[in-house]
Amino acid sequence: MHDSPLSILIAGAGPTGLSAAIELTRLGVPVRILEKETSRSGLSRALGINARSLELLEESGVTERLLERARKVYGISFRQGKELLWRVEFSRVNHQYRFILVYPQHSTEETLEERLNQLGISVERGVALETFKDEGEFVSVQLSNGETGNYRYLFGADGSHSTVRHQLELNFSGHRETHPWSLADVKLAWNLDEPDANVIFLPSGMVFIMRISGDVYRIAADRPEVLEQLPKEVSVGEILWQTDFFVSHRLVERYSVGRIFLGGDAAHLHSPLGGRGMNLGIEDAIRFARRCNEGTLPEYAAERLAAGKRTVKLVSRITSIATAKNPVLRALRTHFLPHLFRLPLINSRIATAMSGL
Ligand SMILES: Cc1cc2nc3c(=O)[nH]c(=O)nc-3n(C[C@H](O)[C@H](O)[C@H](O)COP(=O)(O)OP(=O)(O)OC[C@H]3O[C@@H](n4cnc5c(N)ncnc54)[C@H](O)[C@@H]3O)c2cc1C
Repeated sequence: MHDSPLSILIAGAGPTGLSAAIELTRLGVPVRILEKETSRSGLSRALGINARSLELLEESGVTERLLERARKVYGISFRQGKELLWRVEFSRVNHQYRFILVYPQHSTEETLEERLNQLGISVERGVALETFKDEGEFVSVQLSNGETGNYRYLFGADGSHSTVRHQLELNFSGHRETHPWSLADVKLAWNLDEPDANVIFLPSGMVFIMRISGDVYRIAADRPEVLEQLPKEVSVGEILWQTDFFVSHRLVERYSVGRIFLGGDAAHLHSPLGGRGMNLGIEDAIRFARRCNEGTLPEYAAERLAAGKRTVKLVSRITSIATAKNPVLRALRTHFLPHLFRLPLINSRIATAMSGL
């Protein structure tokens, strides 16, 4: 029943795979979605859902649910210590969604999976894609449960260590930063413009602080020991999650080979600054599904490679400015850029780019 050559096989049930499965099913294209893990990660990871994702998930009914459940953030304040340098204002974006939704990734995935189940499709957990071969007319696959089968296309939404990308021997060029960054979800007592997300430049680097819900905040820094980077007046309560991680900026050389396609972290990686990672994956997924339905799939690879290139380049630049150690760049960031970024046209362009539009 599963191995109809008319079905599309999706490897990975993160935000990218789930979004692809929902959109394909909504459009009447048969799918099967596999997830190698037996249960969903409970980690908050990506927190921001941008206007572009909300627009793309509207027709499937996911956006309506996300809007009911998640908190809205209308601006990002950039500060030097306590001083406000400039504020990115989403109210300047010419769009119906003039905000970023703040929702932990596991809750976003739960919302997506709930909708997929309503459409009659379940994620098959504990089943991994092991090997595959493009046979010309179809893709043959071997799964970890011993099953073999044939599919019309394979969509690799299997994350940064993608089996699909590795087996296609595709270049994933770019670089990994040599020092770790850190993040934590913690309970905080704090009263600094708390409806906004905040990026605070410090002599030692940069720290990001945003309320998730209630008194729980996400803190991230471009160095280890995130809690030590906090301003003195902030008092830390319970620590819910804390981790160090290495930032990579990478882009796959091709988004498709024959009947096999890639999307999400399997195709692109960049720093969390700008909150584009998960959103770009959702965009890949919806574009894949729509092109598949329209019969324009050959154009998917070029379209997504261009989008991936633009985003990785932009996020890489934002990251260099935000984490600059060079005194000249730091002075420019404090004394010149705020004047530029306060100009309405520039401010709205930045807000529009951060909204994924
Ligand atoms: C610590 C941390 C913090 C982050 N913070 C942010 C943030 O603030 N903002 C932001 O935008 N992004 C953030 N990200 C990145 C964000 O989580 C990813 O961009 C997002 O998860 C990508 O979604 P995806 O579906 O493409 O891949 P993933 O979420 O990685 O999903 C891939 C899925 O495929 C499964 N899989 C792998 N191999 C196979 C196989 N062979 N067969 C079947 N299944 C397979 C995996 O188990 C996984 O569930 C963060 C990531 C981490 C780790």
